Amino acid sequence: MYARFGKQAVVVQKYGGTSVGSVERIASVAERIAKQYRDGYTNLAIVVSAMSGETNRLVDLVKQVNPRANEKFYDLAVAAGEQVSIALLAAALERNGVQARCFLAFQLGIFTDPLHAKARIQSIDTRDIFNCWNVGILPVIAGFQGISEEGELTTLGRGGSDTSAVAIAAALKADFCEINTDVNGVYSADPRLIPDARLIRELDYEVALEMAALGSKVLHSRCVELGAKYKMPIVVRNSFNPNDSERTIIMNSINSTEILEAPLVSGITLDKNIAKLSITRLPKVSGLITEIFGAIAERNINVDIIVHNLLADEDSMRVGFTIAREDLPATEEVLRSLNRKPPFREMSIFAEDGFAKVSAVGVGMKSQSGVAGRIFAALSQKEVDIHMISTSEIKVSCVVRSEVMRKPLGARRWFGGNCAAGSSKKSLGGATVPSPPQTPLSLFAPSGLRVTTTDQGVTTANHSILSV
Ligand code: ASP
Ligand code: MG
Repeated sequence: MYARFGKQAVVVQKYGGTSVGSVERIASVAERIAKQYRDGYTNLAIVVSAMSGETNRLVDLVKQVNPRANEKFYDLAVAAGEQVSIALLAAALERNGVQARCFLAFQLGIFTDPLHAKARIQSIDTRDIFNCWNVGILPVIAGFQGISEEGELTTLGRGGSDTSAVAIAAALKADFCEINTDVNGVYSADPRLIPDARLIRELDYEVALEMAALGSKVLHSRCVELGAKYKMPIVVRNSFNPNDSERTIIMNSINSTEILEAPLVSGITLDKNIAKLSITRLPKVSGLITEIFGAIAERNINVDIIVHNLLADEDSMRVGFTIAREDLPATEEVLRSLNRKPPFREMSIFAEDGFAKVSAVGVGMKSQSGVAGRIFAALSQKEVDIHMISTSEIKVSCVVRSEVMRKPLGARRWFGGNCAAGSSKKSLGGATVPSPPQTPLSLFAPSGLRVTTTDQGVTTANHSILSV
């Protein structure tokens, strides 16, 4: 990528927690940056997250002191990790003969909305970055944090320094944004579960976004959203692997004719952090469902899959949905308090923890039917119960009990035993389009199955409904 843009390349490089996780690692990252700098790549802006484990430690401290601490205090405490790591990296750069200047978010001017702990960036003042470049200084910027209009420190949500980096790259109109991490890039599946999972060399924003949102832990999903919005190429690579070609480039969506030849399934993701709520005996009164989800939204709880099917032969309603495990106590609280009010008195609430969501993602699905059917067949063959299903044009997600994923190779077993094996050159139409691994292709080859209706529910174009 550097060669493509030459020495004038404007690049934001982000280093994640593991890349700056020890003094040795900070020293080696600084050496790498200093070498590039000496080679003439001077238009770099460095974004750093906290040393690995540090943000967890700070979150834990806040929780111990007050589990319901004001989010302003939470943000102020948890953002501290980045202050330390920018200073250490700048000091290490200094030792390598590179003059750096550190910026906390408020010093640079990374303005966000006031939504603490999940703030969104609204604008970035890049003047100081250009000023640094003009006088031969390398800017080193704290990721993850921002400043609200009220002058309060905010954070962007866990993993948010990826988003800081892409936002800064967009504001700078950089040539690309490099996310340096502890793996070589985005893989077709979790390599710990599927040992022969492949590095996806090129990925379009749409698939990357689904993969990030569905639990592929490599990227913060908002960073991909921003990348797509500003057409900012995102290069995901290993901080400690000098090989420039072993990486994933996330860029512009491939066009519709290319979709025909795109792999049916680019990747399989797993999110083990799912809790499921089922509500039964809800009176058939319009507006109750709106009220339930309104009350949940008011607590800023993100609901993922929602299953609802109004059945003519039942006199009450059922609705089921999933949330992140950590939101379970708050969600239960919301439902229990509704449960005390008259129209909701009848309803029964079942809250269950211990679910996982496994998803297959690929733009090729847009033009092919049968992927969902293949997955259901593979799961039922292994006697794995599917608790919920959700589909979109480019993904199929199944919620299953997380213990079935516990064994290594669990996912591999489900997907037919040979997932991610075989030739990487295979493609549906024979043409070569951005070439994410084609492997799960044979597995998910069109079988003619299309999920439209089942005994328990109906599939619509963008969201499907099956059993509660
Ligand atoms: N340090 C923050 C976290 O651990 C942000 C990040 O690493 O991206 O969530
Ligand atoms: Mg991260």
